[in-house]
Amino acid sequence: MDIEIRPGDITTAETDAIVNAANSGLLGGGGVDGAIHRAGGPEILAACRELRATSFPDGLPAGQAVATTAGRLPARWVIHTVGPVHSASEDRSATLASCYRESLRVAAGLGARSIAFPAISAGVYGWPMDDAARLAVQTVRESVEELGETVGTVVFVPFGEAAERAFRARLEA
Ligand code: ADP
Repeated sequence: MDIEIRPGDITTAETDAIVNAANSGLLGGGGVDGAIHRAGGPEILAACRELRATSFPDGLPAGQAVATTAGRLPARWVIHTVGPVHSASEDRSATLASCYRESLRVAAGLGARSIAFPAISAGVYGWPMDDAARLAVQTVRESVEELGETVGTVVFVPFGEAAERAFRARLEA
């Protein structure tokens, strides 16, 4: 598996799948979620509403992942995953790791050969960037053993200089 860093806006990523740091309601939000729905158009929201009406009436639980169309985006699929809100009193790392692992599983199931990730939970959900990058890189590396070479390319898309520094440091570690 090839792991790369391409800083910038994930909505322009030309990978087969891009991952959305969604909230459990799946009906849009701020941050990367808002950017994906804005750039991808109403088809994505329609697919999310359908998921709420069928598979996830109570919303998508944190740590899980589900795919929809990517609408007008260059990607074929958006894989929505819900990160945990960072907590100072409770270790929610396993849930954050699960977001990366489950997204990769969904991607492999779809036959996606490439996938792009934002820094899940590291925005409004408050996860410290260095630790978010550490968990992201570690979990993706560990998943190679399980998934083999199904998904050949994983791209991290840090947004902003601090994020880019954190991801580069972890990838080079
Ligand atoms: P969460 O609620 O999981 O914290 P956010 O969307 O608030 O999700 O933030 C997750 C990360 O995505 C943050 O590092 C934020 O800076 C970044 N981000 C925001 N917009 C984009 C975008 N267009 N492309 C890639 N990353 C983005």
